[in-house]
Amino acid sequence: MNFYILTLFPEMIKATMSHSIIGKAQSENKINIECINIRDFAGNKHNQVDDYPYGGGAGMVMQPQPIYDAYKSIISKDSISPRVIYMSPQGKTFSQSIAKELAKEQNLIILCGHYEGIDQRVIDEIVTDEISIGDYILTGGELAAMVVIDAISRLIPGVLGKTESFEEESFSNHLLEYPQYTRPPVFRDRKVPEVLLSGHHAKIEKWRREQSILRTWQKRPDLLEKADLSPEEIHSINQLKMNNLQ
Ligand code: SAM
Repeated sequence: MNFYILTLFPEMIKATMSHSIIGKAQSENKINIECINIRDFAGNKHNQVDDYPYGGGAGMVMQPQPIYDAYKSIISKDSISPRVIYMSPQGKTFSQSIAKELAKEQNLIILCGHYEGIDQRVIDEIVTDEISIGDYILTGGELAAMVVIDAISRLIPGVLGKTESFEEESFSNHLLEYPQYTRPPVFRDRKVPEVLLSGHHAKIEKWRREQSILRTWQKRPDLLEKADLSPEEIHSINQLKMNNLQ
């Protein structure tokens, strides 16, 4: 998977994405993250890429031409026409299912805004998707882009090691993950649940499934509507709801 990031702050992305699993994935060529500095396409001696908004108002707006030229440099160099994602608080809220869908792409261009945002005409010209990482306003799209790249990359085969798995993780099946424990077996008088020390695989699986459903019901009941549950599991949830009402 190739990520092309259109940004005014490539160093922010390079510095953060060079560590841990994502850093290793890059050095092993499982993913490639290329930052394109929009300022390199400013086309004026002051390297200015923003200007005052037409109609007045606070702040500056990123001009369309440098962004368009930066975009063109990618598609003409590599002869590709990938989806172009504009990181925007006005976009569709990012989720695990969007990450899964995007992980199927071979190339993605991610556009990071700054200041008051980007001239609408270049958004209309090149952007195929707008993605938000939540209902709040960041100073720029770089952090949001890194969240999206991280979530997509770990779904790409070979990026996570054999011991790590995303199949049972929260959201993968519309359920939150069961609680996890590691050594020591007792921490400040709190014991690891007996069943996890039993070595009984079937019992452990059953316990984990129950805990996963229970947690989802406690923390994110909205997810349960889409979860694939057996009639017995639905019955247990209804019991929990009844007990809660009493
Ligand atoms: N004036 C814009 C508005 O009200 O919609 C907000 C501009 S924001 C200060 C600057 C840039 O940060 C945006 O162009 C976008 O790229 C990025 N950004 C801010 N909040 C974001 C969010 N929640 N998700 C994704 N990107 C965001």
